[in-house]
Formats: sequence, structure tokens, C-alpha cells
Amino acid sequence: MNEADSRTGLFLCRCGANIADFVDLESVASRMRDRDEVAFVETHDFLCSVAGKEFILETLKGKDVDNVILAACTPKMHLKGFQKTLGKAGVNIAKVHMANIREQCAWITKDRDKATEKARLLINAAIKRSAYHENLQQKTMECLTDVIVIGGGIAGIEAALVAANAGRKVTIIEKDISLGGSIIKTEEIAPNMECAPCLLAPRLTAVRENENIEVVANSEVTDVTGFFGNFTVKVRKKARYVDDSCIGCEACFEACPVSCPSDFHLGLGERKAIYTAFAGSVPASAVIDRERCLHFTDESCSACADSCPFQSIDFSDSDEELEFSGGAVILATGYDNADSSLVRNLGYGDIENVYTTPEFERVASSNGPTGGDIQDRKGNKPESAAVIHCAGSLSSGGLDYCSGICCMNALKVGELIRKQNPDAVVYNIHDRLVFKGPEEQSFYQKQIDDGTIMLKTDSHLSVSIKKKNGKVEISADGIDPVQVDMVVLSTGLVPSAGTDELAEMLHIDTSKAGFFKTDHPILHETGTTIDGINTAGCCISPCSSSSAITRAYAAAGDSVSRLIPGRKLELEIMTAVIDEDVCAGCKLCISVCPYTAITFDPEKKISVVNEAICRGCGTCAASCPSGAASAKHFTNRQIYAEIEGVLNE
Ligand code: SF4
Ligand code: SF4
Repeated sequence: MNEADSRTGLFLCRCGANIADFVDLESVASRMRDRDEVAFVETHDFLCSVAGKEFILETLKGKDVDNVILAACTPKMHLKGFQKTLGKAGVNIAKVHMANIREQCAWITKDRDKATEKARLLINAAIKRSAYHENLQQKTMECLTDVIVIGGGIAGIEAALVAANAGRKVTIIEKDISLGGSIIKTEEIAPNMECAPCLLAPRLTAVRENENIEVVANSEVTDVTGFFGNFTVKVRKKARYVDDSCIGCEACFEACPVSCPSDFHLGLGERKAIYTAFAGSVPASAVIDRERCLHFTDESCSACADSCPFQSIDFSDSDEELEFSGGAVILATGYDNADSSLVRNLGYGDIENVYTTPEFERVASSNGPTGGDIQDRKGNKPESAAVIHCAGSLSSGGLDYCSGICCMNALKVGELIRKQNPDAVVYNIHDRLVFKGPEEQSFYQKQIDDGTIMLKTDSHLSVSIKKKNGKVEISADGIDPVQVDMVVLSTGLVPSAGTDELAEMLHIDTSKAGFFKTDHPILHETGTTIDGINTAGCCISPCSSSSAITRAYAAAGDSVSRLIPGRKLELEIMTAVIDEDVCAGCKLCISVCPYTAITFDPEKKISVVNEAICRGCGTCAASCPSGAASAKHFTNRQIYAEIEGVLNE
């Protein structure tokens, strides 16, 4: 087909007054009617309305056209709808074209004559381009409907439950020895002071009892390949040395002669060389710390095996390499607490009674090292405490961002201390406060009403801490020094360890702060730059527990709503294509493709586009030095014709 042979049907939309008030559509229509390649020109008030679409179909009856052009608004608004309507009239999806005479003309060109001429040129360009449009067929692909969740904190758990309850098989891959993430190390969640373990326990039970969910704990992801509808995730499952018959009865704990610092208690308490993170964990089975276990260090002990009533100990266990397939991946890798080295300037590590907020959470938690009895390292209950906001944050040597949720955690310290000691004096030392919404504001007011003393400094960077008279003294610009028994440093949140490696494996971007980058901060916050990989919880940015769970619902909803058993996935039709006779095999396209849609065929020595992954961005076509790569529907010939049309040639 060339320009002379092509016959185009042209619809002009007035868009109420949006276009008609600025463009003389009747004049444009009459000039278009004179052209040989234009089969007909029709005008309508609202082409996108039900009546407008019926008008389009009625007009096309008995007409023989090769292309249809709708001169109206941006194709982002209505192209898909018009393609659907025109598909009913037998017009191929790639033969429906929109000339944007609203946003790109009527709305930005004040002078009516100029706007009218510009509209004519845009339509001229569309007619010339359309002459080279080729039929493109919508391809479909079988898809897997299972879901793989990476990370087993509250967000990962919730996402897994949503997907599993929708009938999908779900695999949760968790790097710790059991599910629970950060929330299980918390006693109560501000501002509502909900009991965190009470919230989590029924969710853990639901996971344990859900036949659609498989939990693969103590495991790390080693590779991810594939695309939306067909991902493969490789996992190294570390040996537990305790088999699944273990019910976590803890009979072996007493027998084990080894004591060592507990990670779960952030080093503030001890555990044995065989241990579970907490009672009621999922999986229930204990795990042996090979580095500490005397059986592995000098073969001197088998006390746990001797004491286990279920013969669950298996010293011969070894790491396993596993592989899981699914149509969608949900990242729920959470966050880590900022490194304590960022707050060494505030006495952390030197002054005994200086804690971080995560450490204070452990001290205050009923599943913590003191059973929830708030006391310092010597066992004394504090009569006074000071909480330092923004410790290690908003500074050039620390985190350069506000984590957004630390102020709530900082204020919670006073609430928890006063629960056990109503007469305790609690200061909150800050230079700014960040609260989101009325509930957080009310919680703040309640703390003041209950006795928390808010001390506003000129700058949180001026805070200094030293030992004085058996207490800890805090000074800062703009406040008088205060002396207290305990200091709690409100530290920020950072991406969880391994985020960078996982992002590289998945070919997704990370934000400036290092969290996974979202697809769109407003329209698709839980999506990533790779279709089919969604995020739940704090792995895209720190957020409250409720937001983490809301994100989990969004991620799971997106995954299950697009992977329907028995329904094929529709692929992008305007993908790239590589001419194998022209490709020189330089692989440049492979390096530039942001979706990793191109692979190299070593036998033919050419690059090949995977149409299931290609999003038709055209980066490869623009980069290919041989001209072998092109983007369907955006060929050089089509684009040159459009440029000529705009230039009135
Ligand atoms: S950039 Fe072009 S020539 Fe080089 S491998 Fe890709 S398609 Fe082939
Ligand atoms: S068009 Fe974009 S997504 Fe498709 S292969 Fe080329 S670079 Fe990759």
C-alpha cells in the first residue's frame, strides 16, 4: 500500500466546545473532503460518547476504507476504546489512528486561524502516516497463575493470603528462619497501640492452615528469569539440621549447652545454638546455628538430638537448590533499621543506657529479652527517659531523608514507659515533627496530655549526649540540658539488605534512597518497571503497618486480577522486531533494552526479541547501528511520512 492507493475514513470531533471553539472544523472538513485519499469526512460533538461510537459504526456501514483517523483528543484518553469500537466494524487495531487536535492544538493555540491550520497539518500528517500502517495481530500467551512472594513479613503474609484465598498457589520465600518480619519484634503499633503479636498470630495460623501456601524459609533468592505470566525463581534453601517433624516444643533448648546473642533480640538477649525466633513461629521447626553448634565445631555434643522427643535433629542436612515458577512476583522484602554506626556521635555504643528505638521495642516487647519489663541493661527500671528524634537522619553523614514514621515510634516510647511507671518523666527532643493525619495528631496530643515533655531544639544536629552524675545528659541548641536514666535514639529506616542484588536480578530500578523504585508514584505505586513484579510493604519506601498491608492488597489484587486461570494474556502488539538478515550481532540492543526483552541466538549469531516481554519502547530501534531493529507501527517510513505531513509536503 502507498499513499496514493490508501483510502482513509476521517472523523473530526468537536469535543463539545473544547475543540470547536478554537478550531474551524468545518473549514478543515471541507479541505479534507477534496482529497482523493480521503473516503469520507464526518464531524460529531462527542465521538467518545455512546452516541458517538454508534455514529462511527453507522457511518462505516457499506464503506470501503483502509484506515480510520479520529481527529480528537490525546490517544491516551480514548485510543483503546476507539480501537475496540472499530474492531466491531472489522478495522484492524493498527489501522485506527488518532490525531491529537485538542491537547496539542486547540488547548494551546490561542489564535483560531493558526489553530485551524495546525489541526489541518496534524490531520494531514496522520493521513500520510496511516497510508503505511500495516495490519498487526493481537497475540496471546498461556500464563501461569501462581504467585511468588519474596519476603514474609506482615506485607508478604497478607499478599500471600489474598492471592491464596483467590485460589492461586503461593510460595513465600523468606530469608529469616521464620515468617514475621519486623512487626513481630514490636509490642504495640502507634497510634492505635494495637498489639502487634496479636495481629500477626492469626495471620500466621491462616498461612499454616492454607493449603495453597508453601513457606520456604531460611532461603535466599539466587536468580529470577522470565516475564509476566511465566517467572522462574531460583532459591538456595539453607540447611536447618532439624526436619519438618519438629513442632517447636523447645525440649532441646534446655539441653543445648551453648548460649549466644540473639539476633531476634538485637543482641539484648541470648539464645541457644538450636533455636526458634519466637514461640508459635511459622515454620514451627527449630534451626541449628552451625557456626555455634558444638556438634559442628568439635563434634563434642549431640544433646539436642538426645533430648528431642520426635527425633527431628538431622546433622546430615545440607543446603538445597530449589526452583519455583509463577506468573507474578510480589516483592515484600521490607526494611532494615539504619546502621547504629550512624548514631555513635550520640553516645550509642559508649554510654550504656543509650538505646535505639528498635532496641527499645525489644525491651518493651512481651516476646523480648525481659518479657516486656522495661529496664536498662543492669535491670533498673527508668524513672526518666529522653527520646531523640531524627537520630542519624536528615544529615549529610547519615540518612539524607525523613523516614516518615519515626516520630510515631518516638512518641510511643513515653506511652510504653508510663504504662509501667506512670510517674516516669519522658522528654521528646526534636526540631521538627511529622504526623500523617488526625489519628497521629491525636496520639501526639495524648502524649502531651499524659505528661510527655516536648523540647524543641534549634537543630537536631546540635544534640550532644554525655554521662553526668550517673545519668545521661542531653544538650542541644535552644533547650536547657536535661539528665535522664535512659536515652532512646529514634533512628530511621533503610532498604533491607540484599535489595540492590535483588533489583539487579529482577532488572528493576531503585530509588535514590535505595528502595525499589515504583512504576508510578500516584497511578501505580506498588508496581515496578517490570510488568508482573509488584511490591508490598516498605520495600518501596518506609510506611506505616496499615499502609504496608494496603500495598499488599494492591500488589496481590493486581497479580491475581490479571492472571486468570484458563485465560490467555494479551501481548503488546507494537513490539520491536529484528531483521535477522540485517542484524550484525553487535548486541547493542541487548544492552539498551530496559525490559531485558532481547536475547542473543548463539547459533544464528543474531539478537532476538521476546514479544512476551517487549513493551515497544523503541530503544533498540533507535540504537541499532545496522538498522536491523525496528518498532512495529513506528517504522522509519511511517515516521518520515508523518513528518512530511506536518511540514505540509
Ligand atoms: S543492535 Fe542491531 S545489529 Fe546489534 S545485535 Fe541488536 S539488532 Fe543486531
Ligand atoms: S522495544 Fe524496548 S522493550 Fe522492546 S526489545 Fe526494544 S528496547 Fe526492549
